[in-house]
Amino acid sequence: MFLRNCLQTSLSAIALFVAENSAAAQEWKSGVEWQEPPRVTPQATNDAPPSDAIVLFDGTNLDQWDDGANWLIADGVAIPQKSQIMSKQHFGDLQLHLEWSSPTEIRGAGQGRGNSGVFLMGHYEVQILDSFENPTYFDGQAGSIYKQTPPLANAMRKPGEWNYYDIVFTVPKFKGNGDIDQPGHVTLIQNGVLLLNHFELMGPTNFVEAPHHQPHAETGPISLQFHGDAVRFRNIWVREIKPTIGHRTGPPFNIQPKKEESKPEATDEKKDAEEPAEEVKTSL
Ligand code: MG
Repeated sequence: MFLRNCLQTSLSAIALFVAENSAAAQEWKSGVEWQEPPRVTPQATNDAPPSDAIVLFDGTNLDQWDDGANWLIADGVAIPQKSQIMSKQHFGDLQLHLEWSSPTEIRGAGQGRGNSGVFLMGHYEVQILDSFENPTYFDGQAGSIYKQTPPLANAMRKPGEWNYYDIVFTVPKFKGNGDIDQPGHVTLIQNGVLLLNHFELMGPTNFVEAPHHQPHAETGPISLQFHGDAVRFRNIWVREIKPTIGHRTGPPFNIQPKKEESKPEATDEKKDAEEPAEEVKTSL
């Protein structure tokens, strides 16, 4: 009984100490009034397009793609034939989901086995290759930025099984004279495994040239490569990434303890009245 009373007394003292110190802490505020993030309704599974996604292929047709008629569609999948295909809609910063499968029947080796690719803005290839027990140069295997970086891991499923790519891409930005201002970046998750972590693009991917930045428009198409192999595609959708926006209403500040609460707020309101609100944007 005595021990229990001692324990209760100690706990009460700790609770009082925490409460007193919490009351004294001055919460920090950014001074920015943020717009409410838009509500995006997810589906029952993470691979199904959320409410604001633009569906580029749902298994029925390739109407959203230039030269889509060149590819074969059968049993809800699209198979490269004759040429690359290019999305009619152009995108800037984006989140891209697509699913692909290497041919079940293994043919060829190295770069000649299950080769395709996703070209962001038509310039930057995220490699698609059957990299399941198929050695090739590392900056050319599945999940590489072709000839710029190997992926962080090999997360391939067996030929004939489905692989999931989730890509986050920020476009490069160029100055008026064509010099690079801000390089583009690619993040890639394959089958739940991180393969590219905000990789800084060096320029368009190229088979014969060293990468170097080349100016282009602020938006561009997504293209899928035809490399002669019967890679299968399904469930392709995009979400456009928009910056978060707010307006600065004053400098950052700490909320004062209750007894002094009214004074600093009045000061901030004064400053707000004197200075025009500054727009604040953040992206990735
Ligand atoms: Mg390729």
